[in-house]
Amino acid sequence: MRRVMAVGEALIDFTALDENVPVGEAAAFARNPGGGPANAAVAIARLGGQAEMIGCVGGDPFGEFLLRTLVDYGVDTRHARVMPGFSTTLAFVARHKGEPDYFFLRNPGADVLLSTEHVADVQFDGDTVLHFGSNALAALPIRQTLLEMMARTKSAGGWLSFDVNLRPAFWSGPDALEQAKHWCEEAFKQADIVKVNRDELLWLSGQDDRAADHEADALRTLAERMPGVCVCTLGARGAMVLHRDWRDPVIVPAPHTLAVDTTGAGDAFIGALLFRLCSDPVRLEGLHRRSAEEWAADLHFANHASAISVTRQGAMTGMPTLAEVREQMALAHL
Ligand code: ADP
Repeated sequence: MRRVMAVGEALIDFTALDENVPVGEAAAFARNPGGGPANAAVAIARLGGQAEMIGCVGGDPFGEFLLRTLVDYGVDTRHARVMPGFSTTLAFVARHKGEPDYFFLRNPGADVLLSTEHVADVQFDGDTVLHFGSNALAALPIRQTLLEMMARTKSAGGWLSFDVNLRPAFWSGPDALEQAKHWCEEAFKQADIVKVNRDELLWLSGQDDRAADHEADALRTLAERMPGVCVCTLGARGAMVLHRDWRDPVIVPAPHTLAVDTTGAGDAFIGALLFRLCSDPVRLEGLHRRSAEEWAADLHFANHASAISVTRQGAMTGMPTLAEVREQMALAHL
């Protein structure tokens, strides 16, 4: 089975206990382990796959807690680093008017300090799946380190998985969002699997002023910019996928469920999708030739895994096991 190397941020989500108030008005927060790549690594490990987390945490109690938590979930942390003198990135998250409202403490967070020396002894081969998000492209030295890891993965015949997971606050300067777009485009050119959510789809395709029935057009615009497949999650509506060689996108509905906490839903989804793809012995050419029917089955599995995760509190704590996903899929089939 292939193994996924998730690169980037492990951080603490301080999730507001009160609902429907902005971050500054929330009186109490719960400490949850998080960070997109770290959540995806846990999702894969919970399903029984092989996942490694490569990144830096602060030399503080939160950094120690994060590493301990990852190990407890079965994630390999041999290349995760503690950075004495630097702080773990903290995210304060409120659920305000149905949308997550974030405030980050990252000045700089230890996660941006991942350097090429830290990853010098990491082994890349044809079974490597390098998974990353845009936050690791927003700052140096981690961006340079990631670009080098992408090149090493490619030359070893491995796969690149890019989950945009945009956090505008991580980008600074007068042209912050233009920079974010530029680096996402660079990653698109190389990635074998790209995942966006609906907002990211509309923003990156330049169609954010258009109605829902233009989602398929927006996905086509994006898929044409990449050699691999483009997957877009649509919240409670499920997900769709398109490769530029196909005529139409494949749209797969999510099961109906009662959502309690959608933090990390996208990470649960991409983790489950990568777990499925890792179990398939195809080489890189096989991944690019995968049929629309096979992708539909993959998205069906990922929808079920992430639908379970949203019925539970927390991102990592909500990730299901393989038995739980299979059970839910069987029940939905009755
Ligand atoms: P993100 O967290 O990246 O914004 P989405 O909100 O699109 O991602 O959710 C990712 C996936 O989680 C969806 O494709 C779907 O499978 C599942 N999901 C999210 N919200 C719900 C919901 N309310 N009911 C069922 N499934 C959901």
